[in-house]
Amino acid sequence: MTENFFDIVAARFPTDAGTPFIELDSGKRYSYRDLMETSGRYARLLTELGVDKGDRVAVQVEKSAEAVFLYLACLRAGAAYLPLNTAYTRAEVGYFLGDAEPAVFVCTPGNLAGLADTAKGAGVGALLTLGGDGDGSLPERAAGLDPAFDTVACAADDLAAILYTSGTTGRSKGAMMSHRNLSSNAATLHRIWGFRPDDVLLHALPIFHTHGLFVATNCVLMNGSGMLFLSKFDADAVFRLLPRATVMMGVPTFYTRLLADPRLTSEAAAHMRLFISGSAPLLADTHREFEARTGHAILERYGMTETGMLTSNPLDGDRIPGTVGFPLPEVSVRVADEKTGEPVPDGDVGVLEVKGPNVFSGYWRMPEKTAQEIRPGGWFITGDVGRIDGRGYVHIIGRAKDLVISGGFNVYPKEVETVIDAIPGVVESAVIGVPHPDFGEAVMAVVLRRPDGMGGGVDETAVIAACKEQLANFKVPKAVAFVDELPRNAMGKVQKNLLRETCKDRFAG
Ligand code: AMP
Repeated sequence: MTENFFDIVAARFPTDAGTPFIELDSGKRYSYRDLMETSGRYARLLTELGVDKGDRVAVQVEKSAEAVFLYLACLRAGAAYLPLNTAYTRAEVGYFLGDAEPAVFVCTPGNLAGLADTAKGAGVGALLTLGGDGDGSLPERAAGLDPAFDTVACAADDLAAILYTSGTTGRSKGAMMSHRNLSSNAATLHRIWGFRPDDVLLHALPIFHTHGLFVATNCVLMNGSGMLFLSKFDADAVFRLLPRATVMMGVPTFYTRLLADPRLTSEAAAHMRLFISGSAPLLADTHREFEARTGHAILERYGMTETGMLTSNPLDGDRIPGTVGFPLPEVSVRVADEKTGEPVPDGDVGVLEVKGPNVFSGYWRMPEKTAQEIRPGGWFITGDVGRIDGRGYVHIIGRAKDLVISGGFNVYPKEVETVIDAIPGVVESAVIGVPHPDFGEAVMAVVLRRPDGMGGGVDETAVIAACKEQLANFKVPKAVAFVDELPRNAMGKVQKNLLRETCKDRFAG
């Protein structure tokens, strides 16, 4: 029996193919028939272009219904879907294409001229375009093709997608996700969050990330129901659509923005069944305020690119502010000593390690990195520091790795530091995350200039300009401070905890 994730969800699609699947903010609707036909045509085109089972299809496009159909077409063709953040610069895209060697790369029509040479240099077989309005050479070339397509049979372990995470050493790692990884997680989330046939999901997340793609979209596909699809989070649109939605999934920033709006009331949320939050810590205060204003206790869950979702607060039962809930039914979570890897006594703090059918098989072409992060027994070392309380709720306390999460996006300081350190006149930099009322954390750079007068020309504007040139916007520091010395410990390591403390009020108030 084929275990292609597409076959698993298609078996659950509504019998009435006219059932709405996606409705855009413009009002334009796409049914399950559109899903089947367009994904069939796209899959046929990919196959005609020579895409074989296991080949990568890299995609850097705006959010659209067609982009979802392209994801499904890749699954149907047995290819590995490789979505890229739309904020990535040409240099960053060049790295991903060179590393993943995709058979096909799909970019926006507007980026075609700028990326054609990059794609050619990386040996990409075919370059197509897809615009935010469903325009471009992909839909044009697929338009005349037969929509009937026999989905390629896949085994549970076959590669379904590669999602790149930012690398702590500046090099990104491609997390290889199998069909089993996707289907086990989607089936579990669909069940424990109590999806109903008439649920309508309000989808305002990006779809190049596990949250918007594998959590939100896959749950809807499992449910065979519809979603209201916003190209990005927009409070006006959210308030307009809440009366028609029943479930919303968001990053904490969505909830703080809604809370800042006087339109957030229990009446506005009266039609809603469930608000879910994840990708970054939801402040306990936000949780409490949201409940006081709307009567809804936000359900917080925790997961990561490499594993899909790992824990969730209960649908029925206490959703405890500041916790990420219980391990999912098929997932084992243990707390281990960071150095020895031995489990710590019950209730103690340590690094969270996880195991389950949702956990990825390894990093694309990086066996050493994979071996460093997945123990021989299959336990994946998340890098998150936490504890499990007496009732079994998991608490995330911090991150062993030096990750900053700004507005739900991961930024690895090392990558930003490398850019800043290369600026003439800069001796060294330390990039940290500081509390920010809107983004949760903001990227901030602490910079040491050359003392001999050679560093005089380096100011905040110069640092930000250098970062903007080379890095995606969400990685660019929102503030820069200059110091005469970086604090270091006895081993010569910069003590970022001290910097975080000194800079913690930079965005306060
Ligand atoms: P990503 O791979 O982009 O999904 O980021 C995964 C990381 O986000 C995790 O390793 C955690 O550090 C963090 N994260 C995700 N969900 C939560 C949450 N509910 N609370 C705290 N941190 C979270």
